[in-house]
Amino acid sequence: MSSTVSSSIDLNAEGKATGYLIIGDSTNNSGWASFSVPIIKIKNGAGPTVLVLAGNHGDEYEGQFAAATLAHELKDSDVRGRIIIIPCLSQEASKAGTRLWPTGINFNRSFPGEENGAVSDKLAHYLSTELFPMSDVVMDIHSGGRGMYFIPCSHMVWAKDKIQRVKMAESMMAWNTSHHLIFPEQPGTDPASLLPGEAERQGKTLFTTELGGSGIATFETTQLAKDGLKNALRTCGVIGGVPKSRVQIGLSAPIFLDMRGPNAYHSATHTGLYENIVGLGKAVKKDEVIGLIHEMDHPNTDIVEIIAKQDGIIGVMRGFPRVKPGDVVAVIGKPFSSIDEIQDIFS
Ligand SMILES: [Zn+2]
Repeated sequence: MSSTVSSSIDLNAEGKATGYLIIGDSTNNSGWASFSVPIIKIKNGAGPTVLVLAGNHGDEYEGQFAAATLAHELKDSDVRGRIIIIPCLSQEASKAGTRLWPTGINFNRSFPGEENGAVSDKLAHYLSTELFPMSDVVMDIHSGGRGMYFIPCSHMVWAKDKIQRVKMAESMMAWNTSHHLIFPEQPGTDPASLLPGEAERQGKTLFTTELGGSGIATFETTQLAKDGLKNALRTCGVIGGVPKSRVQIGLSAPIFLDMRGPNAYHSATHTGLYENIVGLGKAVKKDEVIGLIHEMDHPNTDIVEIIAKQDGIIGVMRGFPRVKPGDVVAVIGKPFSSIDEIQDIFS
């Protein structure tokens, strides 16, 4: 329970309602203030509760478009159960066009939140203690952010528990992206501090995506967000219609990229501008040059080469080119045609 965040609409009532999460706030200009986050609820009889979340990072837009469109289009009669939609979790970051909130907070490192913390902490706490517990399914739609460009994909973290892993893989495939990326836990990050980490800890069915990046949204990636979200909702049984696979709608079978292992991630070694030398989705060989760092401050500085540490496919490349040592510039995954072919070698 949260005493610092409340909903202006009854999330348990039948029918469609729109309103706000009201979060206690206090600023230099307004000591007694509230901060509002739009929320939409559609409930119609018995069925699962699905929580659709976007704008976790402010500079990732496909999910915000898809969630806002869904909220406008859905009627009571379309739903079998309940759909709760927050089209933009990180309002302040989205308005600033940035990944982080103006306070410097990464909302996706704020979990499980804090009831009496900053606005972002209070919101994370409300999600952890109110919205996740009432939900069967949590969807968290991401798009890379300014720094990176992903092959538009749905993805999952390789769960140690086989049953959980199979469940996550089914969710991953429901988005019908051309590629599905399998990630390790993020280095130097407590997985429990992530929104999906907290949802998974609570045993929720989880859908996560990275539908592009570089701080832009294309027509194609936005359409992928909208179509994938609908198919995912059909898979959950919370809207009508039969879910279909990529092959059933005439597309090529998906490619699975295993991004685990010590040689998948490639980081900048110098400060400068990073140039992608190999395109997204292209196959590379170990020891091939995949990128260059141009130092730019002097006319005669050597160009630094970034070398592939393993054979595979470029699944993630650099978006915003300015880099410093330690910034990830590329992730190379090993391709598989089926999730069953991927071995449990790293767990
Ligand atoms: Zn993100």
